[in-house]
Amino acid sequence: MKSVLTKIPRPKQSKSDPLKVQLAAAYRILAMLKLDDLTYAHLSARHPDGDSYFIYPFGLLFEEVTASSLLRVSLDGKVLDGKEENTYKKMGYVVHGGIYQRRHDVNAIFHLQSTAGVAVSAQSCGLLPLSQFSLHFYNRISYHSYDPLSLEAEQQGTDLIKALGKNKAMILQNHGTLTCGKTIEEAFLYAYFLEQACKVQCHAVAGSQKILIPPKKVCEKAAQELRNFEQEFGHQNWTALLRKLDRLDLSYKD
Ligand SMILES: [Zn+2]
Repeated sequence: MKSVLTKIPRPKQSKSDPLKVQLAAAYRILAMLKLDDLTYAHLSARHPDGDSYFIYPFGLLFEEVTASSLLRVSLDGKVLDGKEENTYKKMGYVVHGGIYQRRHDVNAIFHLQSTAGVAVSAQSCGLLPLSQFSLHFYNRISYHSYDPLSLEAEQQGTDLIKALGKNKAMILQNHGTLTCGKTIEEAFLYAYFLEQACKVQCHAVAGSQKILIPPKKVCEKAAQELRNFEQEFGHQNWTALLRKLDRLDLSYKD
């Protein structure tokens, strides 16, 4: 009699670089969570050589990204490997390459333009410490004022990177959000918590009740404790989401 185990589909083996597979999974997971934005928004991961990074080619939907479709781009914006689908995305390259050049602790960057993120980015109060989601970012989030996507991308990129400072999260006013991490898992979890924080804020400020804000000391204590809550920040949720993605569609590994 055949073992029951033979009926369980084996995980699809990929010939692609494991980091590219992880980044392709990130695009698919964001699409699954409906945090993509047509062919806009972008996620990247630094190549282990340190001098280049992977990013999707402008023109794909997040749900279409596969490991082999990812571009490898130098930190000064030259495509080293892969084929661009569409126009050269200079602004994206300037921001990702510039952050990797200045922040050696950052190996993954997520830029999103979700409705809740853009809504809070347009609120003059900024991100309020009114939920546990937002306390992850208490005194640990940067703001960058809106710049139109003009040809002066280089200056915009430089200003944005300066504004980010040492933080791992930033609100791009009237535009969206940006999170970074030592790993894809960390950048993802910050992106998720920031999204949740923004959603909660939109709902809370829309009500007619006075909003409760914890005292500053409590907020700071929570921010410190939340940062140390998980040993490998993001790993647990990331592996759970990978299991879900693998049950739905393995084509991201191609
Ligand atoms: Zn954008």
